[in-house]
Amino acid sequence: MIREVTETAVAQARVNIGKMLKTREELEAYDVTTEHWQNALQRRYRTHEDMKGILNNVEEVDMSIYEHFDMRVTPYLAQLMDRDDPNCPIRRQYMPFNEELNVRPYEVTDSLAEDDHMAARSTVVHRYPNRVLFLVTTNCATYCRYCTRKRFVSHGARAVNKSQLEAGFKYLRENKSIQDCLLSGGDPLILNDKQLEDIIHRIHEEAPHITFLRIGSRLPVQLPTRITDEFCAMIERYNVQMINVHANHPKELTPLFASRIKNLRKTGAMIGNQGVLLKGVNDDVGVLRDLCMGLVSSGIRPYYFYTCDIAEGNHSYQLQLDRACQLYAGLRGWISGPAVPTFVVDGTGGLGKMPIIPHYVRERANGEVWGKNFEGKCHRMINLEDQTLEGN
Ligand SMILES: *Cc1c(COP(=O)(O)O)cnc(C)c1O
Ligand code: SF4
Repeated sequence: MIREVTETAVAQARVNIGKMLKTREELEAYDVTTEHWQNALQRRYRTHEDMKGILNNVEEVDMSIYEHFDMRVTPYLAQLMDRDDPNCPIRRQYMPFNEELNVRPYEVTDSLAEDDHMAARSTVVHRYPNRVLFLVTTNCATYCRYCTRKRFVSHGARAVNKSQLEAGFKYLRENKSIQDCLLSGGDPLILNDKQLEDIIHRIHEEAPHITFLRIGSRLPVQLPTRITDEFCAMIERYNVQMINVHANHPKELTPLFASRIKNLRKTGAMIGNQGVLLKGVNDDVGVLRDLCMGLVSSGIRPYYFYTCDIAEGNHSYQLQLDRACQLYAGLRGWISGPAVPTFVVDGTGGLGKMPIIPHYVRERANGEVWGKNFEGKCHRMINLEDQTLEGN
């Protein structure tokens, strides 16, 4: 009898492998920790239609939207989405909406001019003196509607091919001034361990002048089970020094996420967060404080918060720079120093990252130095010259 039940259960599980969870009941019964992360990927939702059985008030968009940018949503993220509220911060990041087709004249496909800085025939972006961005895939576990690189992310026709990777390795090999290589994409962790290890191994072997290797990935947030023991062992074996995740809202900091990050920290890698300031998602001091304190409590250092790049269709996520300054002022001094990220704008046309910092200390034309503290109190400060005078 027991044997029979077990066999039925096994057969049932096999039938269900990779099946999309189309009803609320199926989604709620699903436990992502019971299957391999690659099986969880098979269950991703691919259109808004797929989600109508599990979410209410899904925005009606034309299927042609997916010619511009695909949709994928992991069942794990679907569980985090509010069932009724289309403005839920998780839904806002991942569900397609009509306004994104209303492209503004100033919005461009490659706002960071990455294609212009690409080393010949490769996907290595070389903008800064000693470091490069190596785009190793164009796929992600879930596509963020505001993605900077939607010109090629999710587009099968622009997938990174073997010859581009080879050209990338060659560039790294030959340019000995490169000390820092940042694996990005798409999402490098969408590759399986073997594929990723091949890339890391080759960088180690062929470009020993690269002494700082980092990986940027959103998979820990979108599918935390990607962080397996085998993956952590590989990161430790190759001494990958930094992994940056991408969380934008405290709702993303689940117990499962925290526990997998804890395993990742044991590898010795620094763990940072690179978020994006998004209107309607996290443009709120309270939300950002909770997010940043939540990150440090999991051992993640908030590294950067970017303003949303002006890729096509992104305007509904964009904030005024003044607002970004206000938000920053609501963090500095109000929450723990290590929880305060640097706010940056990545300049249009390939200018690079520029910090957005409200003025706290200013020298006036008459040489006086004035400081403004986190509560807005202003004082003239004693400067070096004053001290010398006093000493006399
Ligand atoms: C962001 C970025 C880097 C890394 O910049 P850091 O400030 O060192 O984190 C490197 N190359 C490119 C092209 C980038 O966009
Ligand atoms: S995970 Fe990164 S690369 Fe992928 S869609 Fe989101 S922002 Fe773009």
